[in-house]
Amino acid sequence: MSLLTLENLDARYGQFQALFGINLEVAEGETVSIIGANGAGKSTLLRTICGVLSPAAGSLSFEGVSLGASSSHARLAKGISMVPEGRRMFPSLTVDENLEVGAYSRRKGYWTKAKIYEAFPLLAPLAQRSAAKLSGGEQQAVAIGRALMSNPKLLLLDEVSLGLAPVVVKQVYAAIPIIREQGTTLLVVEQDINQALAVADRFYCLLEGRTSLSGVAADANRDQITEAYFGLASHGKKH
Ligand code: ATP
Repeated sequence: MSLLTLENLDARYGQFQALFGINLEVAEGETVSIIGANGAGKSTLLRTICGVLSPAAGSLSFEGVSLGASSSHARLAKGISMVPEGRRMFPSLTVDENLEVGAYSRRKGYWTKAKIYEAFPLLAPLAQRSAAKLSGGEQQAVAIGRALMSNPKLLLLDEVSLGLAPVVVKQVYAAIPIIREQGTTLLVVEQDINQALAVADRFYCLLEGRTSLSGVAADANRDQITEAYFGLASHGKKH
């Protein structure tokens, strides 16, 4: 069953159009990656799905029901939870308290603080540490944990590996199979193409606000992806 459907979606920041006619479908239980270069519109897409940004045109539906102009708070209550780029913490709160903040939507399910510490063993010894004193990877784990505390049906992850050392990226991504096992659907924005394809069932590539390619991650053709990612077909031939 399709959990999330976007049809002909446009997004704008004032006069500037960031997304053009996006059609996208995510089935229940699937992991889908969105790839694309800086400024391609990936974060804009996630912001539109979680309700921080209203679409300029087109429609979004979740579990077959239109999301209309519902607020991000209402979408969280329906089961759409977002980990924004930049892993915003409450720096004066402890790890434990940051996780508790995520539980306010009171959706019932598998995820509790204990389960978060199980999925992210690096956080377990840090429960009482203030978020201001965490490393980038630890902060990222807290940000994902906090989003999971609402027991989402759909988890949106924006650039979780940005600025992290490869070994830390591995630790953070190690939790993804555990998240999937709970039946959670994932929509992952990732600049690292290899990471994006490794984690996903399917992918969409965005180029200058449009879908330039989509397909099954395991069948992805590197040349096609490079072209769809950088737009070499349209720009490269002039040189
Ligand atoms: P990045 O990897 O850099 O985050 P992205 O693919 O997520 O890239 P977006 O952040 O969605 O890209 O940005 C898409 C386009 O919209 C860019 O041209 C960007 O400059 C523009 N944009 C993003 N946020 C705003 C904003 N708040 N106001 C105006 N323009 C914006």
